[in-house]
Amino acid sequence: MPELPEVEGVVRQIRPVSIGKKIEAVTVSDIIRLSKANGKEAIIKRMEADRFVDSLTGAQIVRVERRSKYIYFTLRKDHEFLLVNHLGMSGAWFYVDQLQSIPEDKFRRHVHVILTLSDGNLLAFSDIRRFGEMRVLQEEAEFPPLLLMAPEPFEPGAREHFLAMAESAKYQNKAIKELIMDGQIISGCGNIYATEALFKMKIHPKRAARRISRRRKVELFESIVAILLESIEAGGSTISDYRNINGESGSMQDRFGMYGKKQCMVCGTMTKTLKIGGRASVYCPTCQK
Ligand SMILES: [Zn+2]
Repeated sequence: MPELPEVEGVVRQIRPVSIGKKIEAVTVSDIIRLSKANGKEAIIKRMEADRFVDSLTGAQIVRVERRSKYIYFTLRKDHEFLLVNHLGMSGAWFYVDQLQSIPEDKFRRHVHVILTLSDGNLLAFSDIRRFGEMRVLQEEAEFPPLLLMAPEPFEPGAREHFLAMAESAKYQNKAIKELIMDGQIISGCGNIYATEALFKMKIHPKRAARRISRRRKVELFESIVAILLESIEAGGSTISDYRNINGESGSMQDRFGMYGKKQCMVCGTMTKTLKIGGRASVYCPTCQK
């Protein structure tokens, strides 16, 4: 699943090819239309497919930003509004002259939304597993979970926010891994980077937040920020279906110490896997206490 660094990579690539351009046409796949006709909410949320098309057609792309793991397209017709996109498990954007130019067949076959831009190129959203989301919003508050997201991890205040939440009655007995993967506590840190940060800090993923000193909590937070920044520099990590808009993958996975490993690279112990917060958590039983 794409996490903050992967989404940041996508946003940095979409920005230069889209800002200032107009969305001339919007195409929604038959699969989405069918799913919506059957009362399901595949990808396009809380809006009929035709209304989604009408809302976006003719709009100019003013800004493209990342907020946590969401992509915010600020669009303008007579007034500004938002297209908010989450990549889900396997969402990917491609900027191509035609769909045939999308590099891999598996992505080409699962294009669900196509924005035809005024330069004649396409911004195509492919989503193999269809857990991605798109919402047209007049303002953030129309989708309240957006307002609950923790501050961006690189912004001042994010560390204090994390400490306050981790030490609150609600969370202090929770497993630290569950805590750092909670977007209301830290923005954008999912299973991959949580696993890596805990391994680096030698903290057992199940340890209760209250059993970690404030100094160690601060170090853990700083370590998450450092890993997120390192991964942005590496173009993100390519676990299963992440691709950037040119169909390329990042290289951060080559630097992983624990995620996806069978054996600890520090001490050689076989790794273990626990389920925490519904996610598989791999750790070293020797190094992480
Ligand atoms: Zn170890």
